[in-house]
Amino acid sequence: MKGVLIRDCSIGGKTGYQVYCQDGRIVRIDEASAAPSGGVEIIDANGGSLFPGFIDSHCHPFEYGWLKRSVDLRGTTNMTAFRLRVVAGIQRAEPGEWVSGMGWDQEAFPGKGMPTRKEIDDISPKNPVVLSRVCGHIALLNSRSIEVLGFTNRTGEEYERDGNGELTGIVKERALEEVYGKLPRSAERSAADLQSVEAEAGRLGLTTLHCIVSRDGFREELEALAGLAASGSLSLRYRVYVPPEAIDYIDATGIGKKLVGPLVWINGLKIYADGSLGARTAALREPYSDDPSSTGILRYTDEQLSELVESADSRGLQAVVHAIGDRAVEQAAEALGRVAGAHNPRRHRIEHASLLPKDLRSKMARRSIRATVQPLFITSDSWAVDRLGEERVRNLYPLKSMLAEGIVASGSSDSPIESLSPILGMWAAMTRGGADSHEKLSLEQALSLYTTNARSNGLDSAEGMSEGAPANLTLLDSDISGIHPALLRKVGVLATIVGGTPVHSYGTA
Ligand SMILES: [Zn+2]
Repeated sequence: MKGVLIRDCSIGGKTGYQVYCQDGRIVRIDEASAAPSGGVEIIDANGGSLFPGFIDSHCHPFEYGWLKRSVDLRGTTNMTAFRLRVVAGIQRAEPGEWVSGMGWDQEAFPGKGMPTRKEIDDISPKNPVVLSRVCGHIALLNSRSIEVLGFTNRTGEEYERDGNGELTGIVKERALEEVYGKLPRSAERSAADLQSVEAEAGRLGLTTLHCIVSRDGFREELEALAGLAASGSLSLRYRVYVPPEAIDYIDATGIGKKLVGPLVWINGLKIYADGSLGARTAALREPYSDDPSSTGILRYTDEQLSELVESADSRGLQAVVHAIGDRAVEQAAEALGRVAGAHNPRRHRIEHASLLPKDLRSKMARRSIRATVQPLFITSDSWAVDRLGEERVRNLYPLKSMLAEGIVASGSSDSPIESLSPILGMWAAMTRGGADSHEKLSLEQALSLYTTNARSNGLDSAEGMSEGAPANLTLLDSDISGIHPALLRKVGVLATIVGGTPVHSYGTA
């Protein structure tokens, strides 16, 4: 394998280093400027900062890949724009074929009302359509899909009805999962989806993705990962988190054994305890400020959640529990605390841990329960104060307090919900979008979310920037030590190196 020499880079704020990698490892870090012998790929850093490879601790690359080829409704601010994008999707489909899309947010529409099936039925008479909200916890169905799915007579809070008792087309949580279970899938398509995302992630400086596979497509997605790994086609590293539904499949097929290698292995079990704040399905201790009739939805009883956590722990898997509302975080912390012991050796963690008052921060810290946070949610959730009120919103995404109180928190995008860019994530953690807040992180803290803490939260804690460590590196286009936080979002990625191989590089001499 050809060696790689990164020349004139900045490490820890000190300039003039050169780093030599060979056979997948960092061989030498020094300030010498001796010309390397032949057979070496040289990357000129021109003073840019070099870091251990950035890690996204929670993303859905298969869903993002799927989004890239379906109807993208992100950024639509009115029904005209929404309908135009759906029409374009229907024109690309055969009559009768499912049309899927995602990314709308009613908070951006005039009047902030949920869209209804009546608003899309006239443009989609022949195709069943499912369009999920940006959070992925609720979706709009057209009348054709309600008919195809046999949902016409369904009742319950997961099937929204209007004042006349008619289905509006909005479905939530488990009802939506049933819809996704019926969409056509294949391993080939999943592999293509993953590769389109992998290329983008590499350009953004990511070397490792903690990859959540979906509840409905896990067979095809695990097959795709195994196939790409076997053919040597993966360029990034994957730590995979599977849904409870996948456990029997993994046991029965033995596919788990094919997913153990330097680039990919199954890390843990992903469990959903609640929904999202945007959809008002996150489980709160007190009612929503903008809907006093609702405290959200807990998906499991305490016993059921504990059972799932134990099934992960007893298999040696890391349990990662999605919990956004304070009631769900409390339930998750109890369930994880029961198996974590004093030091939480399996590094069980809570995904999001969004609404986190002091008592829950203490509870998590005491039990060494880890967290995965999404700094870009802070800048996106402009409606949070409506949902929670002025008082509670102060404990939403309290990143600095979490770190100060000893919670090991790692950073992530939850892509496709937010951009995969770890630099944008750090920018959001440091600036909170310009808001006045005592929860802004320092550069070192923001970096730790995507490096030290992320390695620790994904079971790779031995790695880092030292001689002998695996050569997983991210090289930025400038020296960011001392950078003004607002300027961080402008910083580019010069090179991304995984296992000693550049997967993305602008600087090759
Ligand atoms: Zn997620």
